[in-house]
Parts: sequence; structure tokens; C-alpha cells
Amino acid sequence: MTDRYAVIGNPIAQTKSPKLHAAFARQFGHDMTYEAILGPIGGFAEAVRAFRAAGGKGMNVTVPFKVEALELADRLTERARLAQAVNTLKFDEDGSILGENTDGVGLVRDIQGRVGVALRAKRVLLLGAGGAARGALLPLLEEQPSRLVIANRTPAKAEALRARVAAYGNVAAGGFADFAGEQFDVVINATSASLSGEDVPLPVGSYAAGSLAYDLVYGKGNTPFMSHALENGAAQVADGLGMLVAQAAEAFYLWRGVRPDVTPVIDMLRAA
Ligand code: NDP
Repeated sequence: MTDRYAVIGNPIAQTKSPKLHAAFARQFGHDMTYEAILGPIGGFAEAVRAFRAAGGKGMNVTVPFKVEALELADRLTERARLAQAVNTLKFDEDGSILGENTDGVGLVRDIQGRVGVALRAKRVLLLGAGGAARGALLPLLEEQPSRLVIANRTPAKAEALRARVAAYGNVAAGGFADFAGEQFDVVINATSASLSGEDVPLPVGSYAAGSLAYDLVYGKGNTPFMSHALENGAAQVADGLGMLVAQAAEAFYLWRGVRPDVTPVIDMLRAA
């Protein structure tokens, strides 16, 4: 029987997930469908239950339902618990629902795989303290950087995130100007500044020789953050398209037990 999966969000018309999962399924010849569901505001749990009752095996969850998905899950992975957000649901045979968050691991896999920069023993600056930054923290710490700094426009939010992960590693937090004079090997822009064409006001000299500037935003060419990085000593920049594909690949792995090759799928999206 054909296995059914879906992404649920509101709005949902913009989603690339069906295209990604169709490409992954083709790689393995898996018999599955993947549809996009417009989740009703106030009716998320019912929509998930209906999909499951109709034979669904798992779902991706996007804005604005990631916290409702966290509450709906019977069990959470450590990543999802720390992120306080769920982007992947797996409907288990015993009737329970597992909640996972693959965004951060997708980011880390993209940086270390496609981009080719190892995070171990590196000085990492994470900009932003919203949902994406929250999801990235544990996967970043698992790679054992020598230093991890969270900097945010609202420093108190960065500090709250630091406190949340303090047990997992040595993390510092503050505002953008608080780390002037420090250099970083990897700077990750997990703010939404690039969505509105804005730059993040980093101190001059933040980029170490050979450093990487990675913007989670994609589809906008070189963002002001990426251009500023190149002008200020970064050796390479990358956008978040690879992360998008890699987080989808992690969900596919959770459901299907095989890990797709992301490279041809990233190429397909770029060509489109
Ligand atoms: P949130 O709304 O949860 O958080 C936004 C963050 O950006 C906050 O830290 C906020 O700071 C900061 N911010 C907003 N505007 C500015 C600005 N002008 N200057 C500096 N900081 C700013 O968003 P998410 O965390 O969910 O998403 C962040 C970005 O990551 C989005 O652009 C999203 O598209 C992208 N993303 C990409 C993914 C991918 O697969 N490539 C996956 C998930 C997200 P403050 O706390 O002060 O308000």
C-alpha cells in the first residue's frame, strides 16, 4: 500500500516540501505520496488526527503550528524539547506520536557537508534568538565548537537561550556589540533581518581569516549580511537552501530509515 505523508501549515501554497520528498522517494523507488495541507487556525490537532486516521504515516509541520505540534506529540526527541518546537511528526505503530525537530541538524549537515566546513573546535557566532536559533543550538553544541556565542538584537532573549542550553556546553550570550574584538570562524545568521533586506550590525573585525558566513534565508541572492561578510574578511558565504533540503532529508530518514542524497535536489531547486 502507498504510504502517505504531508506538510501542514497556514499559509501552505509556498511550500517546497512536496517537491523535495517526491525527489527523495524517486531516489529509492519508494511508493509514497506527500501532500500539502492548509491547516485551519484553531483546528491543527483535528487536522493531524484526520490525516492519521486516513492512513498517514508522518507529517512535517510549518508556521504557525510548530508549538502546537510540540504539545500534540506523546514523545519528544531531545532536540525538539530544547527547541520547544516540532517540525516533524512520526505516527508510530503503537498509536503514539513522536515529535522531532530537524531544522538544526539540517543546518549542521549542510555546513559540514555541502559547504564543507567542520564545526569541531571552531569559534561559532549564532545571530538571533528566535525559533531557528533555538533549533540550531543543540545540534551545533553536539559538534563541539571551541566557543559558541549567541548574539541577538534583544540581548535578554539570547541570555534566556544560553540558560536553556547551559548544561550542554559552554555558551556565551549578549547583544551584537558585546563581542567586539572577538573573531569567529563560522557566523550563522539565524535572524530574519535578510527577509526585509536589512543587515545585522556586527562589529568590524568579527570575521577570522578563512571564515564562513551562513545566512538561513534563501532565494534572495547575496543578502546584505553575506555581502557585508565578504567585504569584512569572510572567505565564503552560503545561503539556507541547503539547510531547507537537509532538514527535509532528516525527516525522510526518520520516517523511511534511509538518508537521501541532497546534492541533486539542491541543484534542482536552484535551477528552478
Ligand atoms: P523568529 O521570528 O522566531 O526570530 C527572528 C529573529 O530575528 C529574532 O532573534 C529577532 O530579534 C531577529 N531579528 C528580526 N529582525 C531583525 C533585524 N532587522 N535586525 C536584527 N535582528 C532581527 O524567526 P525564525 O527564527 O523562525 O526564523 C529566522 C530566519 O531563519 C527567517 O529568515 C527564516 O526564513 C529562516 N529559516 C530558514 C530555514 C531554512 O531551512 N533555511 C528554516 C527556518 C528558518 P529580536 O529577538 O530582537 O526580535
